[in-house]
Amino acid sequence: MNYKDLADLIFPDAKEISYYEEKYPARDLPEGAVVSRFAPSPTGFVHIGGLYQALVAREMTKKTGGVFFLRVEDTDQKREVENGVTGIVNSLKDFDMEPDEGMITETEEKGNYGPYKQSLRKDIYEAYAKYLIEQGKAYPCFCTPEEGEEIRKKQEAAKIRPGYYGVWAKCRNLTVEESAEKIKNGEKYIIRFKSPGREDRKIKHHDVIKGNVDFPENDQDIVIIKADGLPTYHFAHAVDDHLMRTTLVIRSDEWLSSVPLHLQLFHELGFKAPKYAHIAPIMKNDNGNKRKLSKRKDPEAAVEYYKEEGIPVDAVKEYLLNIANSNFENWRRANPDKSVDEFDFQLNKMSVSGALFDMVKLLDIGKTVISKMSAEEVYENALEWAKEYDKELEEMLEDKEYSLKVLGIERGNKKPRKDIAKWSDVKNSIIYMYDEKFFASDVTYNYAKISDKEEIRKILQSYIEKYFDINDDKDMWFNKIKDLAEEMGYAREVKEFKANPENWPGHVGDISTVLRVALTGRQNTPDMYEIMQVLGKDSIVKRLKKAIG
Ligand code: GLU
Repeated sequence: MNYKDLADLIFPDAKEISYYEEKYPARDLPEGAVVSRFAPSPTGFVHIGGLYQALVAREMTKKTGGVFFLRVEDTDQKREVENGVTGIVNSLKDFDMEPDEGMITETEEKGNYGPYKQSLRKDIYEAYAKYLIEQGKAYPCFCTPEEGEEIRKKQEAAKIRPGYYGVWAKCRNLTVEESAEKIKNGEKYIIRFKSPGREDRKIKHHDVIKGNVDFPENDQDIVIIKADGLPTYHFAHAVDDHLMRTTLVIRSDEWLSSVPLHLQLFHELGFKAPKYAHIAPIMKNDNGNKRKLSKRKDPEAAVEYYKEEGIPVDAVKEYLLNIANSNFENWRRANPDKSVDEFDFQLNKMSVSGALFDMVKLLDIGKTVISKMSAEEVYENALEWAKEYDKELEEMLEDKEYSLKVLGIERGNKKPRKDIAKWSDVKNSIIYMYDEKFFASDVTYNYAKISDKEEIRKILQSYIEKYFDINDDKDMWFNKIKDLAEEMGYAREVKEFKANPENWPGHVGDISTVLRVALTGRQNTPDMYEIMQVLGKDSIVKRLKKAIG
């Protein structure tokens, strides 16, 4: 009996690997085109760090005319949740990052290199495991979990490296006959890789992000096919990224230490290894301590959070590019109006250690992104968000014509308003412009400097009677507020006041604050002239009267 007979006994129906090699030929792509992928597990949660990796992969494939695909790694069936693929697919869609190939719904896919869901690739893994067994590079292991535990304890007690290797790898020395005998007796087994490595030898690896790294060779006989018949991550990675013709593996740096094993697997399988780019995790400053963004502790770790909060997709992408590439910020300064898609992403400009997540910065980008949008764009985005998350805002936006006027205030000019960072800010930033909301609310009027009720009444009354004319242009309008200030004994100009503050109780700004608060209930709003033009005469008079009353 030889290895081939053992392989046939274990996988009698597996195809020759040549079948798969032909079925998934080298891709016909221009020189230098990067093929990369996003390969999450469907655990019902897309981590912002995952989206970050996917964005980097997509940037690289896009700029080189390559292929970005989505592969679902569902070989750990205990961790799987229902509709987990849908969650991943939708998250990519939400961020305009649909893959060129791979899963497109829970069960459907596109592309010629599938199936793109690992649980559907069992026959493929078997073929390659069989191929390794035939060559004596893999073997069945009959050790029970209890035996494994025993080995671990002994290693711990002796303070030596844990794992299944060297003298500890009991089943690696079974003869083909012994193994066949056990199998025929119905003993349970898994398949292990027979590592040719030695711990005292070093390998050199060049990582596209981390640079040159030295590792000891792998000498662990890792599991390649588990008891449930599915492959481990390591084996599936080698087989899939080979057959899907991945040229650049972009993944979390928690996998960096597995590189020696992975290179060995590629080598023993006769595959050309891809390049690797290991990305540092996104970190968070937690009271002075730097730690990974945690799924458990940080709501912003979930991609879903950004959608619920209504942080614009472009802001999130821009922010991620910002922390991904040190030269992004300069590029943005030089090209304030270009789309993020025009940025020339450089993999070697990625930070080697983890970037700090900064919500303030992200929201700041959100404000800039929204400030550049037209009223129509803000309207459409806010409405789409509101439909899902805020009924009241949705109702407010029903009057599209009026809403466009409201959202158009201080927009489309040189210094557009920057008070909206996310779609969930929209309601609060415009609600006072809607009469049915404004008059139904208990407005608390806080007039800042001027607090005497009688004085305020006089200011407002006089404004309605003598100065207010909806048809005034902006200069005229402001002149009249100055006139009003003068009538009330206040300085016409702020400058005059500042030179001799003892001469007046206040200045024109204090008077216009009274008007602003009376009209909106707020001390800070966008341009009051524009606000008044949108509110219109009737609403203005009614609002001033409400304040007087
Ligand atoms: N399923 C693996 C993970 O989520 C993928 C790693 C990789 O991209 O190869 O960590």
